[in-house]
Amino acid sequence: MEWINSLFMKLTEQDNKEVCIKCKAEIEEINKFCTSCGYPQNGSVQEKKAFRIRKQKELSKLKEIELSATVGKSVLFMLGSFYLVWAIYTNLFIYEFHILTVIIDFFEAFIYLGLWLWAKRRLLPATISGLFFYTTMFVIGLVSNPYSGLLIGFKGLFFILLVISVTSARKYEKMIKDFG
Ligand SMILES: [Zn+2]
Repeated sequence: MEWINSLFMKLTEQDNKEVCIKCKAEIEEINKFCTSCGYPQNGSVQEKKAFRIRKQKELSKLKEIELSATVGKSVLFMLGSFYLVWAIYTNLFIYEFHILTVIIDFFEAFIYLGLWLWAKRRLLPATISGLFFYTTMFVIGLVSNPYSGLLIGFKGLFFILLVISVTSARKYEKMIKDFG
């Protein structure tokens, strides 16, 4: 019965239809531009060139959007894995085993890893939460036991990375909005 269907389709097919050479969508022959992808079907050389340039710009914009999202997420992932390794290493090999320290260390690691997972869906709130959580823990740590200069420098580096992740996430949200 397949052939009857295809025959029927052929017979009922309108003559003034053709297929876009770019995206293969069916369009009216009289249309200058493809109604699906916008390719200047019957357009001039200049119009076809302009179409290609526009598409390339869109593509590079998409890549930029993707990069911003990756930067935003990566910082959370990096922080989470660093804290996890740190928690395992210090608690097992360096310091005396204290259950409270273990809990706090792993809690921090899992917060960042959780935020990283959340960032896949909600990038900006996740990175802002990461920065907020990090700053809070930093201040608590600073009050409870004074950090050495080296540790402050190290923690400051993470802080800068988190600020970068929030900036990237904001850029990402803005570009997504502009891109439509
Ligand atoms: Zn098309």
